[in-house]
Amino acid sequence: MALTGIQIFKLLPKTNCKECGVPTCLAFAMNLASGKAELDSCPYVSEEAREKLAEASAPPILPVAIGKGVRKSVVGGETVLYRHEKTFFNKTAFAAIINSDIADAALETKLKEWNALQFERVGLNLRPELVALKDVNGDKAAFAKAAKTIAETSEFNLILITDNADVMKAGIEVCKFKNPLMYAATAANVDEYGAIAKENDLPLAVKADSVEALPALTDKLVGMGLKKLVLDPGSREIKQGLEDQVAMRRAALKNGNRSLGFPTIAFPCEMASSLDIETMIAGMFVAKYGSIVVLSDFTGESIFPLLLERLNIFTDPQRPMTVTEGIYPINNPDENSPIMVTTNFALTYFIVSGEMEGSKVPSWLLIKDAEGLSVLTAWAAGKFSGDDVGMFVKKCGIMDKVKTKELIIPGYAAAIAGDVEEELPGWTITVGPREAAHIPAFLKSKV
Ligand code: SF4
Repeated sequence: MALTGIQIFKLLPKTNCKECGVPTCLAFAMNLASGKAELDSCPYVSEEAREKLAEASAPPILPVAIGKGVRKSVVGGETVLYRHEKTFFNKTAFAAIINSDIADAALETKLKEWNALQFERVGLNLRPELVALKDVNGDKAAFAKAAKTIAETSEFNLILITDNADVMKAGIEVCKFKNPLMYAATAANVDEYGAIAKENDLPLAVKADSVEALPALTDKLVGMGLKKLVLDPGSREIKQGLEDQVAMRRAALKNGNRSLGFPTIAFPCEMASSLDIETMIAGMFVAKYGSIVVLSDFTGESIFPLLLERLNIFTDPQRPMTVTEGIYPINNPDENSPIMVTTNFALTYFIVSGEMEGSKVPSWLLIKDAEGLSVLTAWAAGKFSGDDVGMFVKKCGIMDKVKTKELIIPGYAAAIAGDVEEELPGWTITVGPREAAHIPAFLKSKV
């Protein structure tokens, strides 16, 4: 069980020296209990107290790394029930099933198709991470062969699904270098699977018939020295699946139940008969609280909305996504190229710069820091006023690069044109389009 703030306080030096950055040891203890402070911030904690406090400072849901390389994912590590309380940290990982009896050519085709499902959004590459290789006939040679192909010929990381220890060992042998997730330790094999996971230092999923039955298994595995666990409460019905996810998250965060303080895995592929329905169920688990979600397949129309939902759920609600203030040359501009200005909200930047690139017109894009707000919001909040924009143009260095003396401001900020003009005497301030889609035609009309 996690320690309370008062229990932590009793273990601190109580000198109120302030070196940890807060005025009192009590305040530090409260911050530590709520995950807002690091134990290392206090240099005076005794070794004995440090040992006891390590438990309190550990996240209530342990983070677990799965895989290697560009599609490595860390799941778990969450500290809040609701995103608006702070943020969710480690995004849900998506997996799709491949049966171990798949033909070589079909496997190659699948991996190629799935690998192509990558989408650029606000400067990020959105893509699924995992292939769940499922043993369907106990053929360990076939299982190992498919595991080897997935591990060696694709970026995907693996979940190895089998209840046969020999098949599991054969799979691990060929893809251990990719840190696969073993699925799953159950009441029937917990000792054997625990030993295999320990020997190979691999993450291990734990499956029980209910949430209530999980702690006996996780306690046993933790007692064996394993910490990289992933929980499956065994529910394969939608309502029960949601209830179990919520129960496990609440138990870990609200009750400090360390036995359930691990990431989770959910199987929409076993809850529906069509990929469309699976996708909707998966969407539910992205929001509440599946750390790994396993589907029967990936298609563009199924995975793209899930990746977008995940992007939205796992961004910090208190920090808009931003790009750096500055000058962005687009299509190799020169000293006579047009100059546009907008805010540093990431979505605004990527949409505007994308349309400018698409126009093929060499041009300059000035990005002004507006605390990550979109143009209209920034203008309404006084973060994109005429004075500010004029001052920014003067100090950003664009005047050293161009002879042009025309600044194109966003259509939604037309009201600032007069003030910008006052700040930039001798410049022409042109109101650009309101909609980004109209930028290409607008720019082409300028050349
Ligand atoms: Fe207390 Fe340690 Fe913070 Fe000093 S640094 S106020 S001893 S918690």
